[in-house]
Amino acid sequence: MTTEYNRPLPRPQNTELTRPYWEAAKRHELIIPRCTKCDHLFFYPRSECPRCFSTDLEWAKVSGGARLHSFTIVRQPVNPAFLDDVPYVYALVQLNEGPRLISNVVQCEIEDVKVDMPLTVYFDDVTPEWTLVKFKPAD
Ligand SMILES: [Zn+2]
Repeated sequence: MTTEYNRPLPRPQNTELTRPYWEAAKRHELIIPRCTKCDHLFFYPRSECPRCFSTDLEWAKVSGGARLHSFTIVRQPVNPAFLDDVPYVYALVQLNEGPRLISNVVQCEIEDVKVDMPLTVYFDDVTPEWTLVKFKPAD
């Protein structure tokens, strides 16, 4: 199920650096930066490799498989745009390829969410312009 938002949502910032990520999400592909010098995969997107400081970076498609590293249940959102969504799962997800990213766990009951549960990527087309990368329990 796709979330349909009819209210103003906060938009991603610094889209010059992250544009490929958002364009891939819209195609329902998950890509993350990889250093071509030391082969390090990392997230969030940066202009330099956090391991070797090289600026020779590329985008790498990843499997979308992950595990839930940590999470909290949001019952009082900081941004009022998300008031209708509470409670929701604010998650630190560890991709099978190693990097961790902040996301949401969706399409399951909140009481079923457990640390280390296997997840798979879920692309939520929240507006015609934006697709958010979320995760759902793996089959
Ligand atoms: Zn590097």
